[in-house]
Amino acid sequence: MASLLIKGGRGLSPEDNLDGEVDILVQDGVIRQIASGIGDRADETLDARGQIVSPGFVDIHVHLREPGGEISETLETGLAAAVAGGFTAVCPMPNTKPVIDHPELVRRTIEKAQQLGLARVFPIAAVSMESNGESLTDLVALVTAGAVAFSDDGRPVKTAGLMRRAMEKAREVGAPIIDHCEDPSLSFRGVMNEGSVAARLGLRGIPNCSEDVCVARDLIVAESTGAHLHVAHLSTARAVEMVRVGKRRGTRVTCEVTPHHFSLTDEAVAEHGTQAKMNPPLRSAKDLEAVLAGIADGTVDCIATDHAPHAPELKAKSFADAPFGVIGLETALGLAMTQLVHSGRISLAHLIVLMSTNPARIINPSTDGPLGRLRVGGTADITVFDPSLEWTYHAAEGRSKSRNSPFDGWKLKGAATTTVVAGRIVFRRA
Ligand SMILES: [Zn+2]
Repeated sequence: MASLLIKGGRGLSPEDNLDGEVDILVQDGVIRQIASGIGDRADETLDARGQIVSPGFVDIHVHLREPGGEISETLETGLAAAVAGGFTAVCPMPNTKPVIDHPELVRRTIEKAQQLGLARVFPIAAVSMESNGESLTDLVALVTAGAVAFSDDGRPVKTAGLMRRAMEKAREVGAPIIDHCEDPSLSFRGVMNEGSVAARLGLRGIPNCSEDVCVARDLIVAESTGAHLHVAHLSTARAVEMVRVGKRRGTRVTCEVTPHHFSLTDEAVAEHGTQAKMNPPLRSAKDLEAVLAGIADGTVDCIATDHAPHAPELKAKSFADAPFGVIGLETALGLAMTQLVHSGRISLAHLIVLMSTNPARIINPSTDGPLGRLRVGGTADITVFDPSLEWTYHAAEGRSKSRNSPFDGWKLKGAATTTVVAGRIVFRRA
């Protein structure tokens, strides 16, 4: 296998206490040497001067739509979007058609992704059969097949009782339960955040309490079972506060926020229509500030995109009828750099913790690991990015099969330039 020398970049991996100008030599998919002044003795040399060399980004919340939703995305287009965004590994949610509730479906997804040779795929399997909240899946068999976490995403785990049984099993197999925190009896038929914007637009609102009561329930069950709860796409001020308190109490809880929830408020719905319709919805300015504070103080463990492609004809429906979700793999880094790092809210090292170190730790895959690190003998999954590259995002030029983004036309600062998976360059910015 070819060797690769990444020369002159700023190696930055908080987990490895690495921060400085280094060369990195990769052979046979493994990092062989990290030092300054490694001579040019590789098959290929990459000039990374002025750039950040980071452990590969890991996105633990994506929807790749295959099988069953190929009109909106396929593994191939979704993983092409992932590597273009600097992600070397992604975790697809199980709400495909069929739902990933059987070991064979987990294996098939992993095999197909391996054949594509783009980003690594670590599937998340369903908590309940068909994610319908009735009977538990076989968590042991699913983990054996390669699942790294469990979720009924798209919906919450239906009842506290089911959550308790799922957590007891999940603790045994050492995997987190990822919950889409929503009480459907509270968000009932809502389509955007409840508040003045919804009132102005005449749209039915989803109240914050819909998310908050579910986060509270899950935290209590997690504390009583000792299992690892991961709260998906957290969006409210109260949820941030509850996770903060949960951590203080010693509950095994981690959480993620999406770039759209740290970049936009519900005012964006008035401007972007269905391109700003997602679940949980964009919230108020007060919630956005609380999310940003949670990112800055470490309450928020990671950034995850909730990349949710929908074909144009689906998003062309009326606001009430269009599906929830926006794409995000190709804008995540640019938004995180622009909104969080260049604004002075967090450091570059903290960004890498949010996009690589922590998400890798949360899924903790037993194979191919450890991800989220840059160390000799470790897997050569590496993201090289230019922190000051200014560019404009055009959804129509993206690699995702879908275009549903409220960030179309946004000017961003910071972009992945080269993505390396298992020592192979799988993306290079033109
Ligand atoms: Zn969700």
